[in-house]
Amino acid sequence: MDTEAVIAPPTTTRSRALATEAVHAGRDDLAALGLHAPPIDLSTTYPSYDSRGEAERIDAFAATGARPDGPPVYARLDNPTTGRFETALARLEGTASAVAFASGMAALTAVLLARASMGLRHVVAVRPLYGCSDHLLGAGLLGTEVTWTDPAGIADAIRPDTGLVIVETPANPTLAEVDIRAVAHSCGSVPLLVDNTFATPVLQRPVEHGARIVLHSATKYLGGHGDVMGGVVACDEEFAARLRQVRFATGGVLHPMAGYLLLRGLATLPVRVRAASASAAELSRRLAADPRIARVHYPELGGAMVSFEVYGDPHRVIAAVRLITPAVSLGSVDTLIQHPASISHRIVDEGDRQASGVGDRLLRMSVGLEDVEDLWADLCQALSYEEPARREFSDAPARTAAGFVPASRPGAR
Ligand SMILES: *Cc1c(COP(=O)(O)O)cnc(C)c1O
Repeated sequence: MDTEAVIAPPTTTRSRALATEAVHAGRDDLAALGLHAPPIDLSTTYPSYDSRGEAERIDAFAATGARPDGPPVYARLDNPTTGRFETALARLEGTASAVAFASGMAALTAVLLARASMGLRHVVAVRPLYGCSDHLLGAGLLGTEVTWTDPAGIADAIRPDTGLVIVETPANPTLAEVDIRAVAHSCGSVPLLVDNTFATPVLQRPVEHGARIVLHSATKYLGGHGDVMGGVVACDEEFAARLRQVRFATGGVLHPMAGYLLLRGLATLPVRVRAASASAAELSRRLAADPRIARVHYPELGGAMVSFEVYGDPHRVIAAVRLITPAVSLGSVDTLIQHPASISHRIVDEGDRQASGVGDRLLRMSVGLEDVEDLWADLCQALSYEEPARREFSDAPARTAAGFVPASRPGAR
């Protein structure tokens, strides 16, 4: 029997839908291996009796950054379980490759180092970004220099040594959106990195709109259960090769167990994101119609994040929730709420925080998979403390007819 014909994955004439890729990508070889669940390879080292052959494989990696054929030599170079997650995420984002890291911040660090190693240390960035991303760029910890601007100012901010333009859309925590296609056009030949953590490839595939690099904190929706930390960069193979070399040299690798959990998380990503988004949209409508709420931010794109501003003391809402968990992070199966000015964006300079729309009365909620009526009941009892404040602040900002103010990006400074 011709074994080739048996092990070759079925040839497809049309590309598979996202929901299909989510459960099959990175697993195409399993049936031929006689497996159903992906194997977890925890090896840190790989035996070989042929050190000349190993030397050649190490030379090849040093020269090209391509994933090695066969065993990885050493776990800092590559891992087959993590490789399955990388393959799957690249398919979902529509890129040639993806490279996984120990966390979202390790992923961003590797991108910045990869560009700086080419002599391109200048970054153009649009606020707001996730607080620690803002900090990593602004504090110059990696020797990068940043110019903050709004989307309209990107073209003018680009210099000969600009290696990267960074935007988040919808942004953490205001849910402000940028037009990726327009921004990509302003970038010219400079690669645009979109942090797609909030939208996930279920709602938005930035590469289809001209972005060159897509970054995820995999800790959030990709993992989806609040129990695994990771980061991943989806991009073309040329940049992925550079990222693998940086990862090998700096060591921010994803643990294979985390790689397994992230691959498992991807399988339910479309279902989780759609279900949580439906609840978030409903909660955003109810909050917008509630007189205790000054302003609701919910992206036109949709999604499972809702941010809102109260008239009174946001800390009382955090202290009063019972079903909803008062905790930083997002993208889990359960609903979380936090106060960005105190936690996720605390590390950003107060003036910069305020100027980018992250005010002291803003709360950010990551809507999970609970029943929407239970979530609403918990929010209502937590907001009941807000009623006295309503009388003190009767000059509420103007509302649209629907009582809903769409998320907008204030002019970044
Ligand atoms: C959490 C987050 C990060 C950082 O990811 P970690 O996995 O916590 O290192 C980056 N970007 C966004 C939008 C985030 O929400």
